[in-house]
Amino acid sequence: AKARGRNSIHYFTEQMRTDFLKRMEIIQNLRSALNKQQFHMVYQPIVDLTNNKIIKAEALIRWQHPEIGAISPLDFIPLAEETGLICDISDWIFNQVSQQVKHWREHYCPELMISINTSPVQYRNQGRQITNWAELLKKQGLEQQAIAIEITENLLMENQSQVISVLDQVRQQGVAIAIDDFGTGYCSFSYLKNYTIDYLKIDKSFVQNMATDNKDAALCQAIIVMANKLGIDVIAEGIETEQQKQLLMQAGCHLGQGYLLAKPMKQQEFEQLLIQEQSK
Ligand code: C2E
Ligand code: CA
Ligand code: CA
Ligand code: CA
Repeated sequence: AKARGRNSIHYFTEQMRTDFLKRMEIIQNLRSALNKQQFHMVYQPIVDLTNNKIIKAEALIRWQHPEIGAISPLDFIPLAEETGLICDISDWIFNQVSQQVKHWREHYCPELMISINTSPVQYRNQGRQITNWAELLKKQGLEQQAIAIEITENLLMENQSQVISVLDQVRQQGVAIAIDDFGTGYCSFSYLKNYTIDYLKIDKSFVQNMATDNKDAALCQAIIVMANKLGIDVIAEGIETEQQKQLLMQAGCHLGQGYLLAKPMKQQEFEQLLIQEQSK
């Protein structure tokens, strides 16, 4: 048992070493990825479940490295956050998405809303980065909820007063606020009372177990009832089956996102979808 113990320690350090090297490799490449134009955005439609209309989408980043290949945001976003590179990357994302939403609103869908994921790091320094975004949107005439920012519950738990004032400020300037991955973080209902929130996104882990696990189904139903009573719109994430969609609709959820409805797609493809929507 002792020998095995030593082996497993040895194995663990080897693993840590390769993880470390992989992290270093990603960080080094991350620094130049913006200049080398290795990022692009994809858009995943958010569908009105009652009539299948698309007037919202979530913007998701993709990183295509010439040698390494596609690197998942799950792998590089945490490193971008640790190194602070996330701020420059997010400004790039914001510029891309705001230009797109402006174009799409003018040509195809005046009420289109695109949501952008944000990281807690971006709310430091009095949230200057986020308040700047709101100013830029105003200058472009995009103050009617053209952009939503997605935040996680954990952000609301830390640094309460500063975050409240940043969110209040940008919301008054027409930026919608969505809570992402609802139910997976340090969950507290008090913030739903203290903040004005526009959307609550039920995490896909709950949605995906709805049909098979009574407890997950009960949680989803309870979240939907509570949000509806508070006047917060619910978006269900990760809908993969017709059964999940039906259960959500029965529970009173009208907005959904997931592979059953549409996968994340390139800008041109999403634009084609908006053109089709117009002729419906
Ligand atoms: P998230 O914000 O929860 O995004 C939803 C993720 O679920 C996306 O993964 C999406 O492709 C995936 N998804 C959508 N529908 C389904 C489904 O029906 N089933 C399953 N299993 N998955 C589905 P993706 O694009 O790999 O992003 C992973 C995470 O990386 C995101 O989770 C988000 O936290 C982060 N991320 C992605 N893009 C950005 C970005 O532009 N900025 C920041 N800060 N974070 C981002
Ligand atoms: Ca999200
Ligand atoms: Ca999510
Ligand atoms: Ca997330």
